[in-house]
Amino acid sequence: MRRVRSLAPEVLVVGGGATGTGIARDLAMRGAEVLLVEARDLCAGASGGNHGMLHSGGRYAVKDPVAAAECAAEGATLKRIARFCIEDCGGLFVSMPGDDDAYIDRFLGSCRRAGVWTEEITAGEARRAEPNLSIEVRSAVRVADASIDPFFLAWGNAESARRAGAEVHNHLPLRSLRVEGGSIAEAVLGEGKDEVTIRPEIIVNAAGAWCGRTAAMAGANIPMELDKGSMIVFNGRAVNGLVNRLRPPSDGDILVPHRSSTILGTTSGPADLDDIRASKREVDRLLEEAAAVIPGITSARMVRAYAGIRPLLSGGEHGREASRGFRVIDHQDEGVDNLVSVAGGKLTTYRLMAEKASDLVMSKLGKRGACRTMVEEISPPAEPRTAGLQGSLIASRYGALASEVEAHCRASPLGMDEACSCECVTRGELEFFAASPDVRSSADLMRRTRAGMGFCQAGLCAFRLASALESDDPLAEAERFLEERWKGIAPVIRGEQLRQEALKAHLLRCYGIDHTGGGER
Ligand SMILES: Cc1cc2nc3c(=O)[nH]c(=O)nc-3n(C[C@H](O)[C@H](O)[C@H](O)COP(=O)(O)OP(=O)(O)OC[C@H]3O[C@@H](n4cnc5c(N)ncnc54)[C@H](O)[C@@H]3O)c2cc1C
Repeated sequence: MRRVRSLAPEVLVVGGGATGTGIARDLAMRGAEVLLVEARDLCAGASGGNHGMLHSGGRYAVKDPVAAAECAAEGATLKRIARFCIEDCGGLFVSMPGDDDAYIDRFLGSCRRAGVWTEEITAGEARRAEPNLSIEVRSAVRVADASIDPFFLAWGNAESARRAGAEVHNHLPLRSLRVEGGSIAEAVLGEGKDEVTIRPEIIVNAAGAWCGRTAAMAGANIPMELDKGSMIVFNGRAVNGLVNRLRPPSDGDILVPHRSSTILGTTSGPADLDDIRASKREVDRLLEEAAAVIPGITSARMVRAYAGIRPLLSGGEHGREASRGFRVIDHQDEGVDNLVSVAGGKLTTYRLMAEKASDLVMSKLGKRGACRTMVEEISPPAEPRTAGLQGSLIASRYGALASEVEAHCRASPLGMDEACSCECVTRGELEFFAASPDVRSSADLMRRTRAGMGFCQAGLCAFRLASALESDDPLAEAERFLEERWKGIAPVIRGEQLRQEALKAHLLRCYGIDHTGGGER
């Protein structure tokens, strides 16, 4: 079991999403003593519940030019510093019959003013680039969108922060703050045998949609506008690059190719922080909208649906109208001089958010140290030693750690055996990450390796994950994991996935497991 070492760190960062891990890395690289705590696992919030789109800025150019310009600049930076988790596949904006013909001119003009690169192409060129596009496509614009793996981004930032001296703990929530004389004097972390009280100099609240709750622990207030969005994962790649609809942002207008899958999103609606799931109704709505652009999508195999909550700043506007900009808030004006919150923004702009928050923290600490995250690579990809697909997959997944993971796979007796056939993950990869004190469950192992994320949704590998964890009760562990996966399967259970789930139910019944948890069918 891990114990917190820094009982009086200079900085406590709350939240292990892209923003929190980015802040921990930035501050540690500037020489600050940092402790990061995450209530669940890294990337358990919006950072793991989004499209995985590295925005070129095109989507926001017309309505939110500041956010568009930030996305354009940060997208280019991330393509340099986070190569290991980005696929620079490019993107298209396409218009369809019924869309406003005048919108393209507004779009191109707004992009030009915000510094977003565009290239207008013909409908024929668009269809050659994306053969699944509807033949009815009317106009098309190329942009510099890319696909990013947020799990590997957050994990890479956390590992890089650790290498720079930071302490990072997942499964350790901030539970309360005690304010004394205008400052936070103590923070209580964890519960039961994990509970520990610490005395940080400064607290950085990077708790995403939960930012308001964290600030309230110190009697401070952040006006948030929470907005739920749902997405569908399809087996295989329906598009070669990102495909966006050339119209004001709306439902079902983005398709993102993501490793072995395609992600379609998104919706916009009221959010409940304690129940973040996609519904069947949202799935139907997404399919209906996307079918106008990629007609074959309605017969593609849906693997699961999931949702995330956008941590937007309240400014009188709601949902898609609300700004995607961010703010770094110094709560000194509210009578808490050592609390800094970072709210709003995008995954694409997390590094900039981290830089601005770290600038404020360093000045509060009275320390010098310039930001280096725009130039120093997070996790430089390693060259694979093993020939073939397996070697290149390991190299592409784990960045700087790839050589170590690969060495373990080669040294372990069954290390190169396949553990998850959908995602081509070896037993050695599971063993390597299962040995980490960060990994407590099959879901933690999945987020670090992708095992269980593929089209069978862990039907074939749940037992291998549980056995790699050396759990006391592998059957119960596998059942818990399968039930968790079921929550995302239930809204898409039709067609090919229905057959898969029927087979899975039949096989699992032999072990006395009901992977639907007796729940929604
Ligand atoms: C549907 C949807 C689609 C999106 N698509 C994109 C996209 O394609 N591209 C893009 O750039 N952006 C996208 N975004 C926005 C992006 O996902 C978020 O802006 C970003 O991930 C926020 O990161 P974060 O680290 O600030 O918050 P989070 O990732 O939510 O992290 C906050 C963390 O704080 C933890 N936490 C909360 N309370 C505590 C506590 N008391 N103690 C310890 N930890 C705590 C939570 O568990 C959570 O892990 C999308 C968002 C949504 C919802």
